[in-house]
Amino acid sequence: PFHKSKGQHILKNPMLVESIVQKAGIKPTDIILEIGPGTGNLTKKLLEAGKKVIAVELDPRMVLELKRRFQGTPFSTRLEVIQGDVLKCELPFFDICVANIPYQISSPLVFKLLDINQKQNFRCAIIMFQREFAMRLVAQPGDKLYCRLAVNTQLLARVFHLLKVGKNNFRPPPKVDSSVVRIEPRRPLPIPVGKLKEWNGLLSLCFSRKNKTLGSIFGQKKVLEMLEKNYRTLESLGQLKDNDSEIIDMSILNEDVSMDVVENGKADDEEDDQMEVEEEGEDDADSDNNEMQINDSGFKGKVIGVLKQYDYADKRSSKLTQNEFIHLLSVFNQAGIHFT
Ligand code: SAM
Repeated sequence: PFHKSKGQHILKNPMLVESIVQKAGIKPTDIILEIGPGTGNLTKKLLEAGKKVIAVELDPRMVLELKRRFQGTPFSTRLEVIQGDVLKCELPFFDICVANIPYQISSPLVFKLLDINQKQNFRCAIIMFQREFAMRLVAQPGDKLYCRLAVNTQLLARVFHLLKVGKNNFRPPPKVDSSVVRIEPRRPLPIPVGKLKEWNGLLSLCFSRKNKTLGSIFGQKKVLEMLEKNYRTLESLGQLKDNDSEIIDMSILNEDVSMDVVENGKADDEEDDQMEVEEEGEDDADSDNNEMQINDSGFKGKVIGVLKQYDYADKRSSKLTQNEFIHLLSVFNQAGIHFT
């Protein structure tokens, strides 16, 4: 009866459902958004705790079953069911989101919820994720799972790991363990909204090899060519570019690692780690590269100069804090170096 492709794993442990709802800190006045209510085990507890539940469910059979479950009960007037794909529909206004989601939508969903273009103002989202994805969301500098997803999510929100959940709490049990995470949107953001595109450009570069030194990443010919092109373009425009009124495509921040993890059970940065030894030795060779020497006094000197001046040249993204990334963007920008 359950669709694997829709990620249908039903929560069967009532104690666990209870504890998720308790940890969510729902107020009796709250409008709750639930994503993927399935047969409604969590929905029922949410209806008991809040004022109204708006549930978005993709599978029409589940929608029917859900409606039938609450028909003729006092709950039915406080439950609104929207049939559709949560990634495609416009989100309703809500105070809090509580959901046991299909794991394949994890990454796009996080960035949809945290989309700064949606004039949402919700308090927090309590979401069940695959364990490894959850650990990536909350990872700190120096942690093995620290990655672009962690830095980008933590730029837009504060994230807390709430609860470890074993696979046997679900029917049918998924292949992987799970974790419940609390996500609280940050308002205002620590950087101006108009800088998000640049931020993403910088972060993509920095995490292209998270264990390489920044000096080595920014010394690459291709990277320098790209940055120099931006530099010349902006120079000819007289640095008059203003992004502030632009609508930001939040999906740029979404690197979508979730599927990869589910399918292979292994994170993409494991490759990085294996290469670390090799790469660390290469760093110097890279920067002494003859080809590069030609530019050294020019644009390359400028870029590496900024890194050296602020002591970033020998640092690696795997250990940089969010504030350091923000600072790095700002000192690059001050030097006229831009990432869009
Ligand atoms: N909340 C229920 C529970 O905890 O027992 C069911 C959770 S199950 C992991 C995920 C549910 O999300 C399924 O009912 C599935 O049909 C639904 N679903 C899958 N993809 C969806 C999407 N893109 N938008 C909305 N619902 C989706």
